[in-house]
Amino acid sequence: MDHLHLRNQERDLRDSVSTRLSLLRATLEGNITSNAQLVQGLVASISAEPDLSAGKFEQLAQYLFKGRSQLRNIGAAPDLVIRYMYPLEGNEAAIGLNYRDHPSQYEAVMQARDSGNLIFDGPVDLVQGGQGFIARIPVFLEENKTGKEKVFWGMISAVIDVEQLYTASGLPDLAQEFDIALRRNGVVFLGTDQVFNQHPVVLDISLPDKSSWQMAAIPKGGWSAASGSPVFFRLGLILAAILVLLPLIAIGVFHRKNRDSEMRLRALFVMSPVGITLNDYSTGRFIEFNDALLIPTGYAREELLDLTYWDITPQDYAADEARQLETLLVTGRFGPYRKEYIRKDGSRYPVQLNGVVIHDASGRKLIWSIVEDITERLQAEQALRESKERYQRLVEDIGDKFVIYSHKALTGELTYISSGVGKVFGITKEEAIGGFWDRIINWYPDSLEHAYFIATQIAQGKIDFVQFEMSFIHPDGNERTILASAHPANDASGDLCIEGIAEDITARKAAEEALIKARREAERANEAKSQFLSNMSHELRTPLNAILGFSQLMELEDLNNPHLKYIKGIKSAGTHLLALINEVLDLARIESGRIDLKLEPVEVLPLIEECFNLMRTQADKRDIQMMHAALAEKVLYADRVRLKQVMLNLISNAVKYNRQGGKVHVEARESEVPGYLRIVITDTGIGIAEDKMGELFQPFNRLDAAKSGIEGTGIGLSITRQIVELMGGSAGAESALGAGSTFWFELPVTALP
Ligand code: ADP
Repeated sequence: MDHLHLRNQERDLRDSVSTRLSLLRATLEGNITSNAQLVQGLVASISAEPDLSAGKFEQLAQYLFKGRSQLRNIGAAPDLVIRYMYPLEGNEAAIGLNYRDHPSQYEAVMQARDSGNLIFDGPVDLVQGGQGFIARIPVFLEENKTGKEKVFWGMISAVIDVEQLYTASGLPDLAQEFDIALRRNGVVFLGTDQVFNQHPVVLDISLPDKSSWQMAAIPKGGWSAASGSPVFFRLGLILAAILVLLPLIAIGVFHRKNRDSEMRLRALFVMSPVGITLNDYSTGRFIEFNDALLIPTGYAREELLDLTYWDITPQDYAADEARQLETLLVTGRFGPYRKEYIRKDGSRYPVQLNGVVIHDASGRKLIWSIVEDITERLQAEQALRESKERYQRLVEDIGDKFVIYSHKALTGELTYISSGVGKVFGITKEEAIGGFWDRIINWYPDSLEHAYFIATQIAQGKIDFVQFEMSFIHPDGNERTILASAHPANDASGDLCIEGIAEDITARKAAEEALIKARREAERANEAKSQFLSNMSHELRTPLNAILGFSQLMELEDLNNPHLKYIKGIKSAGTHLLALINEVLDLARIESGRIDLKLEPVEVLPLIEECFNLMRTQADKRDIQMMHAALAEKVLYADRVRLKQVMLNLISNAVKYNRQGGKVHVEARESEVPGYLRIVITDTGIGIAEDKMGELFQPFNRLDAAKSGIEGTGIGLSITRQIVELMGGSAGAESALGAGSTFWFELPVTALP
């Protein structure tokens, strides 16, 4: 359409151009012809009067120039030499010009002479300036003398001013709108070649010499520009196209959407894990259903399509079914409705249905139903019920010291309580449920306050689990304490509740308290004992010193005294008593923590040697050898005096409880504890029975030594271990009866961090 429209427009335009151009042609042709005609008049005059004077020529020419000719000058050249010229002014140069001397003009002149007719030439550049068309007319004399041949007189040439001719013909006006070109014999003399190449309107202009010009015109800027902008037409076209296409597209989109949504719905239908079926309302026949419905029935698709839902519904549901149909009729929908379907193999399975009535295009009533196979759900429900019951029994059987509870977080209303409530709180379950936990029990105020605080924290989500004690007065009048746990939960109605367990810990608490009390008392008694011993030892030593001193004096005074034996007995008993008192005092001081330790690095070897020296006499008496090994340069971080006491104690025991000719061996070994050194004292003595090992480090326990007659107090090892422990170490022993004993202690080698 656009193309046609353009063609039409162009044609219209060409028509109008053609009309305008025809007009131009007519005036051009008219003007040229009339100018030529004027000159023809002159020719006639000359033919009649060949020897005309210059004056006569001027007179004739002047006549021609009157009126509105576009003539610029007229010259006459008898015998081809220009002799006459009008107007002379400005054209003097032409007088005397011999055409024979100007080949180009000569040719034209000859052509005119030979043809005997007017030749219209040009445009040519004029000597006087400007351009002109030249009409050349040969003049022949009417030669009557011979009567045969015409005698050639010469040429008359008239110059027509190009510009004037064009202007008079109205060409400049037209040239404002059109590109105009003129050509003669293929040579363009006005305008450009281009015009002829652009599909112009072309007209022939007939010239007086029977030749012709071709005039071509095109609108300025070409045809398309002139045809006017097709924008509006095209906009119109587009608008029309849109008007036609839009509804088509809309219909297409609508169709596609329809198809898409149908596809989506179908995919849902096919993939749905829940059975979906369409049945005829009146017959109950299956029309359409998905696999989720088909598969549990055990039928093939074709088989089920031949059945109605009545066929797979057990008879027992007839009444229910009728009721559902009634609802369907009234409300247009039914369900949720639980019933059973019969499988192909005759077994049944539970289903839950929901459905609506719809009408198809033909107005037939149909039922769309969603059919859920609820076998698994029922099983789960059953399992849940059973586990709930089991849990319930568990809760109820938890024991009469425990109460499981649940109360609303906001109101405190008890929604559940286990049967332990009777024993623990002295109220019945019926009294408790529906009551408020804070009112039905006679709580102590501080317990209540604490519990309120906790309940608030739980309700605000700040606590997930908490355990706390609460005390109350039981209806039997006794104070009781429970240990309650609490955590947030949601009850059956979805409300926030607090639940947990309360355990009656009254008895346990009483026992604990008794225990704590007993321990405190024991500690107090022990302290008192240490204090007492410490004091007593002081008091005892004073009189004992007197006894020992005087018995010593008596021993020295009279050596023959028969009572000397008694005095020795007194002295020996006194010495033992003093040792005992000293050790008791020491023990008491250690136990009551009243000893000062000055810890420093102490070289082991010199100390051991000092101890050996002290024990030498006693060891020699029974031929006991004392040796040491690996002690050189060994250092312990300890209190020097107390370390010597420990070593002396162990070495003296190793000697004391050794056999005749036995051995005592002391050596340093690496400890299992990093940074510690172990000193091991081994003897070859009587050893210790395995069942006595446990009593070894108990104060005043001499095992069986008391019976053996070996002197001792039974305190040494106890003191030893306590001192070692005070200095950050440990002590122990291994022994076997008859095989000798090994005692050891270990201490840090440098200051403890
Ligand atoms: P004491 O030597 O004054 O009786 P101790 O506390 O030093 O008291 O020792 C406690 C008991 O351990 C001793 O009475 C003795 O029966 C036993 N005992 C200690 N050292 C040895 C040892 N080297 N060999 C065998 N028995 C020992």
